[in-house]
Amino acid sequence: MNKAIAVGRRAHSALLARVVPVGTDLHSEAGEEFAKLLNLAVLAALVIPVFVVEFVWFRRWDLAILLSLAGTVMVGAPWIARRTANIGLARELFLISLFSFKLYESLLIGSVFSPGSMWFITMPVVGILFGSMVSASCWLAMGVGALVALHGWFRAHPVSAPALAAHAEFMYTYSLVFMGLAIAAFVFMMEVARKRAWVRLQQANATVKELAERDPLTGLYNRRHVWSELEQEERRAGAERSSFFVFLLDIDHFKTINDTHGHAVGDAVLQRVASALGNEIRGTDCFGRYGGEEFILLFKSANGLHPERFAERLRQCVASLSFVSVEGPRKVTVSIGIAEFSPGESFSKTISRADQALYVAKASGRNRVIRAFPAEESDGDAIRTACVRQAA
Ligand code: GH3
Ligand code: MG
Ligand code: MG
Repeated sequence: MNKAIAVGRRAHSALLARVVPVGTDLHSEAGEEFAKLLNLAVLAALVIPVFVVEFVWFRRWDLAILLSLAGTVMVGAPWIARRTANIGLARELFLISLFSFKLYESLLIGSVFSPGSMWFITMPVVGILFGSMVSASCWLAMGVGALVALHGWFRAHPVSAPALAAHAEFMYTYSLVFMGLAIAAFVFMMEVARKRAWVRLQQANATVKELAERDPLTGLYNRRHVWSELEQEERRAGAERSSFFVFLLDIDHFKTINDTHGHAVGDAVLQRVASALGNEIRGTDCFGRYGGEEFILLFKSANGLHPERFAERLRQCVASLSFVSVEGPRKVTVSIGIAEFSPGESFSKTISRADQALYVAKASGRNRVIRAFPAEESDGDAIRTACVRQAA
């Protein structure tokens, strides 16, 4: 069964590729409309021969030939759309062919109870399938109008011996079965189209979300996303009396790397450092690019890791990296400033204290971790270095 479905899908894709004008994106609106038109044509190609055989069986050559002609237009609708670049025209020609044949069939058979007249009600469904409410409304009016007109006509001009009357019961059953199948196929097509559109919408939403929260160069979270995580963490810390840490990491002498080796090498170093740090950091923490050659980490203390030891691990991780330059392998290092969120302060204050610690890390020689402590734990307003200490 699955194999048959796969073969069917492949055949459908191959057909679609032949029908859709070159350069049309299959996921665009035009591509979708072409696919729907092709599905209708395939359906017509399956159902119409069944009725041609029926008419041949009852030796109604006129009906068999007319249906073959109408069927040619219906099955050829996708190619009409391709040649005229007008899907609406092809859809309407499809419906006009169906309508004209059914009207002729009903008049010829000589009764509003003709099995063919049932098909009038399928036409608005095609309009709805294409999302054209104007077409659907017009064909609903035409279908109902045709039935009322036929009824009026046959009341005024009763046919004493309607053609094929002897086979009416068989023809009704035949028509009913295939109309039922065709309507089921319509509904199935609509459901498949709806599901596909839903999946694509989900994918588009995921892409938009990804673009909105990621930094394009490093693939890390961007500042906006880290900010919203910090806001949440600040609320949680207030409500649950928990705490968290902010790490600021800044690549040392990065300007020299850029100036000496070029911006492209600088970009590659940024990517390398971001990826190495990203591999060390747990999924529960939030790591992002703060700007330029600086990174920010929201470190959740409840995770059982010692913040300074963890920062030291990050520092060593970067120090173990080297990047390739024309003068051979070069080392790269980071300085890290850490601050713990203090109850009552805003997270931006915590960041500013981590920044002060980073400043001290830079001033005291770089390639080191410095932790800031709340002012009240230190000697009041003593100089900044009194508020920090170097990691062991
Ligand atoms: P320090 O050790 O004090 O941090 O010195 P530094 O040279 O790392 O710091 P500075 O702020 O003087 O220079 C940062 C440089 O980072 C300047 C800027 O051109 C460069 N930079 C910022 N963003 C990017 C980027 O996306 N790609 C590259 N290649 N360079 C960048
Ligand atoms: Mg910097
Ligand atoms: Mg720097």
